[in-house]
Amino acid sequence: MKNPFHVMIIPTLGCPGQCKYCWSSDVNSPKMTAETAEAIVRWLEPLRDQRVTFTFHGGEPLLAGPEFYRTVLPLITSRLAHLSPEFAMQTNLWLMTDELAEILAAYQVPLGSSIDGPETLTNYQRGDEYFARTMAGYRIATAHGLLVRFICTFTNSSVAQKEEIVSFFREQGWVMKLHPALPSLKGDNPNAWTLSPEEYGELLVYLLDEALLHADEFEIMNINDLCRCVFTRSGSVCTYADCMGTTFAVGPDGAIYPCYRFVGMPEWVMGTVYDAPSIDELMASPAGQRMLAYKDHVDTACRACAHIAYCRGGCPYNALAGTSEQVEGVDPHCTAYKRIFDEITSRMEAEMAAGTAAAAPAARMSRVRRKAKPGVMTLVKKIVEQ
Ligand code: SF4
Ligand code: SF4
Repeated sequence: MKNPFHVMIIPTLGCPGQCKYCWSSDVNSPKMTAETAEAIVRWLEPLRDQRVTFTFHGGEPLLAGPEFYRTVLPLITSRLAHLSPEFAMQTNLWLMTDELAEILAAYQVPLGSSIDGPETLTNYQRGDEYFARTMAGYRIATAHGLLVRFICTFTNSSVAQKEEIVSFFREQGWVMKLHPALPSLKGDNPNAWTLSPEEYGELLVYLLDEALLHADEFEIMNINDLCRCVFTRSGSVCTYADCMGTTFAVGPDGAIYPCYRFVGMPEWVMGTVYDAPSIDELMASPAGQRMLAYKDHVDTACRACAHIAYCRGGCPYNALAGTSEQVEGVDPHCTAYKRIFDEITSRMEAEMAAGTAAAAPAARMSRVRRKAKPGVMTLVKKIVEQ
């Protein structure tokens, strides 16, 4: 992970979009006030002495408006300077304006947005105007020098068009970040779009091959993360690390949760920023105890797994969504994680055994080597050099 401490700020759960598989928006959600933002800063000032990343998430965080960011960004930067704060935002970009882009650019806030593939496919999953509105915001953001990267959500419907989707991202010259449609604790039919663990595993292996085949001109962030996990034997993104006690989310009213995915669920409130709770107090709450119970459960349930050091049972939210919030199983995508971790491990071991680690640059490969399957270590070398 970029920084050891991660605070997600959810200014509202409202969102102007109507994406069919999204369970994290709430039309009646209030918006965070400057007073609550000030309380966040008071809470964090003495809490920890570690580098922190703040991610503005939602709902749709741009709904908070320019005044909110004009106040909050300098407030955090100056009062929490000892934590070397960095920022990020996850937004559909529909509400991006020159004014907002200018404010965010002054703090170099990288933006994550969502496009699921070509326009027709994206609109099928996310709604009729989605693609055009997001691209309009993208043009404004990039004109102001903001870095925008797109998450591509694969559903049980779109996975059949994976070749088309990957070609689209390559043609655009975009880095791809993959997101599988996940089960949810919210909504009436939360599994409607969910990618099965088997489909997800096959998709990851396909994407590994695509990333290797086009390593010079195309990047898939998740594949890099997975290779890094296996090579360094430690988790480098929250799904493959223990997030409890190092990640928190603050909802619009100042309530503190273990992660943005729980925001709006009263049983997952750990405390409120207005009380400035310590980490120990937060983890002693029933929600905190349940997260810690998950960590203990993984130590037992995944004990025999070769990948436990850098998988850690996957995402606790996914696991809890699959068991009606009871700590009874691990992330249901375990099958997919095992599939891709096994694949990377066996390729890596074979390449090392064959003495082809840190494979030679393409230009120097023999004709025979050029025809062979590209090596995982080529990618690892590139990631390490980055
Ligand atoms: S609950 Fe899941 S998504 Fe949230 S921080 Fe933990 S691993 Fe990441
Ligand atoms: S791959 Fe499955 S068994 Fe292994 S650590 Fe991850 S969740 Fe546990």
